[in-house]
Amino acid sequence: MIVGRIHSIETLGLVDGPGIRVVVFMQGCMLRCAYCHNPDTWNKNGGTEITAEELLNKVKRYKGYFKSSGGGVTLSGGDPLIQSEFVAEFFKMCREEGINTALDTSGYGYGDYDEVLKYTDLILLDIKHVEESRHKQITGKGREGFLKFLSAAQKNNNKIWIRHVVVPGLTDSEDNIRRLGKYINTISNVEKVQLLPYHTQGVDKYKDLNIPYRLEGVPALEREKLDKLYLVLDEAMGKLPRTKKAAESHSLNDVG
Ligand code: SF4
Repeated sequence: MIVGRIHSIETLGLVDGPGIRVVVFMQGCMLRCAYCHNPDTWNKNGGTEITAEELLNKVKRYKGYFKSSGGGVTLSGGDPLIQSEFVAEFFKMCREEGINTALDTSGYGYGDYDEVLKYTDLILLDIKHVEESRHKQITGKGREGFLKFLSAAQKNNNKIWIRHVVVPGLTDSEDNIRRLGKYINTISNVEKVQLLPYHTQGVDKYKDLNIPYRLEGVPALEREKLDKLYLVLDEAMGKLPRTKKAAESHSLNDVG
């Protein structure tokens, strides 16, 4: 039996996939995003050990809540793909129990993605940036890992919700959002696009961990700006108004 490492579990998540969800934050991430609000999940050796069966039993306790709402379980992080063997085993068990599975990822991990994707009902896919150099500036890594995962997801025909964090001065230009929209149009099976406004909650974690915070002094993204960028995105994608709903319901999403 494979042992996974998790950071924490949120039992009534409303923003990480359809319906009410149990959100499991997993340990380990290869990226170091400038705006990350979960630096305490970076260390793949941190957190608490758990088997897939133990995690399933925890999740099953809330089945009554999430089943009736069309929800399920979402693995987030960190990046769950760091522990892809564990994720595949856990998602397989969920499938057998009729529990909807969502994978919140930036596409950076190890192992056999096909095995994970076979049991994944929805991918919440973070696009950090469409440009190689900016991607590297924001995350510390180029786009190669992302493209490898995206290619596996497209081959497996997984349903995708795209997410993009909008940070003042970093990713909030109309040009960036236009290019993002055009790029998303090249991806199949995209059901929804969510622009996640940068906020400053969680910055204190950096102080606790003694890690310098790269976006010190950057303000949270204003609602008006976000609404405007959704219009730019809609126009670039030429597919009104599927992004609008996300704008209304996801103004305070967590980032990470
Ligand atoms: S924002 Fe997500 S992908 Fe980026 S460093 Fe944080 S946990 Fe990793």
